Amino acid sequence: METSSENCSVKVALHIRPLISDEKQQGCTQCVSVYPGKPQYFVDQVHIGSHSFTFDHVYGNGGSASSKMFEECVAPLVDGLFQGYNATVLAYGQTGSGKTYTMGTAYNDHSGIGLIPQVMNALFNKIETLKHQTEFQLHVSFIEILKEEVRDLLDMVSMGKSDNSSSNGHSGKVTIPGKPPIQIRESSSGVITLAGSTEVSVSTLQEMAAYLEQGSLNRATGSTNMNNQSSRSHAIFTITLEQMRKLHSFSPSNDTSDEDMGEEYLSAKLHLVDLAGSERAKRTGSDGLRLKEGIHINRGLLALGNVISALGDEKKRKEGVHVPYRDSKLTRLLQDSLGGNSRTVMIACISPADINAEETLNTLKYANRAR
Ligand code: ADP
Ligand code: MG
Repeated sequence: METSSENCSVKVALHIRPLISDEKQQGCTQCVSVYPGKPQYFVDQVHIGSHSFTFDHVYGNGGSASSKMFEECVAPLVDGLFQGYNATVLAYGQTGSGKTYTMGTAYNDHSGIGLIPQVMNALFNKIETLKHQTEFQLHVSFIEILKEEVRDLLDMVSMGKSDNSSSNGHSGKVTIPGKPPIQIRESSSGVITLAGSTEVSVSTLQEMAAYLEQGSLNRATGSTNMNNQSSRSHAIFTITLEQMRKLHSFSPSNDTSDEDMGEEYLSAKLHLVDLAGSERAKRTGSDGLRLKEGIHINRGLLALGNVISALGDEKKRKEGVHVPYRDSKLTRLLQDSLGGNSRTVMIACISPADINAEETLNTLKYANRAR
């Protein structure tokens, strides 16, 4: 495999959503401004002072923001998959800032505007142009991490006849009570796998989209406390691309040409992550239980921040500084797709409303650390 000459540190983009009607009704004003033409961002709010940050890209709410974001930040990662490079796209931000909108993991969103639908399109288009010379196999998994436990979002899926009544066990796939928890394993060559999770083979765009939708629905309805639960979990949609390419050599002396030179096998995966809300636990009206969840989620986000900042620091990387992947399930799972030859993009999502200024500032600081 060729080594990438490209700088492999983490790219950070900012996605600023428009004021939503709820914020308008409350009379919120915008507290953020972007210097035109510059990838720079500025928060201006009286009681928290003025702060300015620079990012690799800034996207506002113009109609083409989502396709531009895809082209500039994510399409190169899809291309990389075909060269065998793992990659990760992360959406970070407080609840309500637009993470799910950005990723396209809302089960009732059929706009195709999110990054995942665009990834799927690009992927299948590219496969179409290459399939005469290469054999492809695609798999997807969809899990969430809640309270440091991995939950399988495709476990209840049996395509065509989705069976969510898992208690009777008469038809379809069922969730068995007491089923061993999904475990994150690392092979001797450093490949991370999820033992016990559903990995489905897909061959069409429609099939992949159906798994995305079903898993998103399971995420939203899987708990009694549905409004809060999904904001406290990390959802990870993973696409694995395997390819077998026939290698030929052309000999000019012989018109029958094409001597079989064997095959080349490549496998790479792309993680598309809708992170848990980054807001502090106290803001979600904590009783004891919620506080515990808050602490767990912070563990994932905290570890992610530490890992990414260690990876982004060239000097530290050269000195071989310890990267704390093992500090959370999230970073452990993403270990072979963050750093090294892999490519990572973090999309920091923010609300422009003044009432969110404090959390927005926290998000900007977090994202800034990742650069
Ligand atoms: P999160 O997943 O971070 O909690 P959501 O993606 O659910 O946030 O977004 C919160 C609300 O804002 C939703 O109603 C969503 O449709 C809306 N929204 C988010 N981003 C945008 C955007 N770029 N343009 C228009 N509406 C948006
Ligand atoms: Mg969400």
